[in-house]
Amino acid sequence: MADPKGFLNHGREVAESRPVEERVKDWNEVYVPGSLLPIISKQASRCMDCGIPFCHNGCPLGNLIPEWNDFAYREDWQAASERLHATNNFPEFTGRLCPAPCESACVLGINQPAVTIKNVEVSIIDKAWETGSVAPQAPERLSGKTVAVIGSGPAGLAAAQQLTRAGHTVAVYERADRIGGLLRYGIPEFKMEKRHINRRIEQMRAEGTKFRTGVEIGRDLDAAKLRKRYDAVVIAAGATTARDLPVPGRDLDGIHQAMEYLPLSNKVQEGDYVAPPITAEGKHVVVIGGGDTGADCVGTAHRQGAASVTQLEIMPRPGEDRAPHQPWPTFPMLYKVTSAHEEGGERVYSVSTTHFEGDEDGRVRSLHLIEVEFVDGKLTQKPGTERVIPAQLVTLAMGFTGTDQDNGMVGQFGLDLDERGNIARDADYETNVPGVFVAGDAGRGQSLIVWAIAEGRSAARGVDKFLTGVSSLPRPVRPTDRSLVV
Ligand SMILES: Cc1cc2nc3c(=O)[nH]c(=O)nc-3n(C[C@H](O)[C@H](O)[C@H](O)COP(=O)(O)OP(=O)(O)OC[C@H]3O[C@@H](n4cnc5c(N)ncnc54)[C@H](O)[C@@H]3O)c2cc1C
Ligand code: SF4
Repeated sequence: MADPKGFLNHGREVAESRPVEERVKDWNEVYVPGSLLPIISKQASRCMDCGIPFCHNGCPLGNLIPEWNDFAYREDWQAASERLHATNNFPEFTGRLCPAPCESACVLGINQPAVTIKNVEVSIIDKAWETGSVAPQAPERLSGKTVAVIGSGPAGLAAAQQLTRAGHTVAVYERADRIGGLLRYGIPEFKMEKRHINRRIEQMRAEGTKFRTGVEIGRDLDAAKLRKRYDAVVIAAGATTARDLPVPGRDLDGIHQAMEYLPLSNKVQEGDYVAPPITAEGKHVVVIGGGDTGADCVGTAHRQGAASVTQLEIMPRPGEDRAPHQPWPTFPMLYKVTSAHEEGGERVYSVSTTHFEGDEDGRVRSLHLIEVEFVDGKLTQKPGTERVIPAQLVTLAMGFTGTDQDNGMVGQFGLDLDERGNIARDADYETNVPGVFVAGDAGRGQSLIVWAIAEGRSAARGVDKFLTGVSSLPRPVRPTDRSLVV
């Protein structure tokens, strides 16, 4: 155990953010570089090393949290990094981007602020990279088996790394021009600088994983042919089909899916554009959807110099404390102030968009909304509450309905879908097509990075077993696991 009195002697402290007026002028991560390390050992000492560490169950990866807290407290960064990597291929992603369901399940959180697990995680891995202790782990011998991974988001990367290290020859196919999935083109630089992905890709290349960008399976390469070429296939193609808003005026210029807007800004940071082809500069921006994707649009619009930013959410504003039906250690729906919300803008809850109005050039000019409330369990419009707000750029961030079915991949493989429209799989992540596996959002539906990594690791075990008859690779989660959390 770290320090038996740590939680009595120290309160919770988290990473310090840069002042808003400074950070909205650039795209770097919002945190003060180096601010965590001086406080992190004390923070790790607050861990009580509980007899039953509920945080393990809160984390979909089953991260060995009390063990690495103890090492972080003792400043044994090498041992802490080894424990962290035992369950997580990419802690620098989760340590920056995870909503930390582990902290909702922390026992200290019953009557005190939880241990800042996510900050400890990112400190350990940043220190490990800084000291050069994250080395490639090439396999000692090759199995002679080949695996194609479709999609290079966190699920595909985790599956590829596990399988490469198990000795299989792995090629990752990605339709985009760069590797990383939503980590690369979706999540803005100010939440995670892309150098963290590049570093991992270099490690994976050195281990032997091959990457093929600009190849869309189904469109550029027939899926059935791919299956014949490889001994096994892992589909990690994400759930990229966005939910739309079919109301009058939807086809006006200036109304875009969030994922048409956000990647352009990522591409500016990559040096592909001088200025983004769709920009919020000088415009009244409305973001429809109150989740993570919406918050990313808000932060991006601030940095592009929007005249105003309004975020609309159809559901009521969540409470600031746990609701009775979301007791500890479940992951509660709470009112969240993300870094993007700290930077300004207005958030409007319990409203629904009825239609858009345009100007004579066919560009969106305003958005009409109406308040809604639950009546007999159904969201119902409140008569007389209509109003109009200015809108010159609208982004739709209302979630995703499943994996892309337009490119022909699903049909060419002959895959079954489940009742939610995701690619169906069994307990070993194998689809109805022998030797074809599925991991991450493509099988689970829109979810989180931590689940994608956990599924990629688990599917790798299924593939390894399929190829060799047995597997010693870990399986953190089953496809049906929802556990206590999101
Ligand atoms: C804007 C945004 C912000 C988010 N922020 C967070 C956050 O802060 N924290 C968090 O935990 N989660 C967040 N999420 C969710 C998280 O990013 C996803 O759950 C996660 O990336 C899913 O990983 P994946 O590997 O399954 O799929 P993806 O990351 O979607 O990767 C799938 C990849 O497959 C490729 N592909 C698809 N079809 C083909 C094909 N036929 N051939 C070749 N390649 C193909 C795609 O181009 C893509 O690169 C966010 C999501 C969005 C949209
Ligand atoms: S991956 Fe997420 S849930 Fe797991 S320990 Fe890290 S922050 Fe917590």
